Amino acid sequence: MDRTLAGELGAALASTRELLREALEEGVEHFERRAAPPRTEAPAIATPMPVRAGAPAHRSTAPPPSAQPAPLAPTPAFPSGVTLDEVRAALGECTRCRLHEARNRIVFGDGNPGADLVFVGEGPGEQEDLQGLPFVGRAGELLTQMIERGLGIPRSSVYICNIVKCRPPQNRTPLPDEVHACRGFLDGQIEAIRPKVIVALGKPATSLLLGRDVAITRVRGVWQEYRGIAVMPTFHPAFVLRQYTAETRRLVWEDLKAALGRARELGGVFET
Ligand code: SF4
Repeated sequence: MDRTLAGELGAALASTRELLREALEEGVEHFERRAAPPRTEAPAIATPMPVRAGAPAHRSTAPPPSAQPAPLAPTPAFPSGVTLDEVRAALGECTRCRLHEARNRIVFGDGNPGADLVFVGEGPGEQEDLQGLPFVGRAGELLTQMIERGLGIPRSSVYICNIVKCRPPQNRTPLPDEVHACRGFLDGQIEAIRPKVIVALGKPATSLLLGRDVAITRVRGVWQEYRGIAVMPTFHPAFVLRQYTAETRRLVWEDLKAALGRARELGGVFET
């Protein structure tokens, strides 16, 4: 076989294997056959919602490191009434876990400190790490479009953050000790904001907030609770980009509409 062709086939197989691994992590049980979306397609999750085609930027094929977790500094607990500024100040130039080693910038969070709707993702990607802001890469574009064009509210009216504040190398899933080291700051952020509703984006964020390992396909769209706050689990936007089917988009759209509706029912006020 031609060496170039063999190399391309090997790369394609590796990419497919990685996609299947990620899908299993997300709890996916089957795949739909579909055509690749055109570059200018307007997805049905919002109208219009253009999404570029191409490989997902959220994860890579790099395996997690095999190193044993190092001892970690204790995670602070934040009292009722804490402010976001106080949580950020406590974070400082954090070195509590190994993720600080390769980061460019800490990605604390972005948005309205009094938001009634909070989105929690997994961790910063490349663009987030460079810009110091959450969800500003391809998955972030999709999330922003879901919020602004789909829900009809400005992104600045909600708050967006992740379960870890530093980019995992090659966008791998954060390791349990890294999540453990960082989760106190997420708890502090939610305590400071006290939103009406939290949207948990993907399996890691949902599992963390619910305190148990979940299959996202089983819990998405089903109301949950975190410290008395309603939680709506849904697929991560990066997963939606990878599994770009009408059904996936419809499910996420239903979840987001339900989240905004519940937040409004509970007295949440949103700019339009
Ligand atoms: S991921 Fe969180 S705990 Fe780890 S270094 Fe960054 S801010 Fe600190």
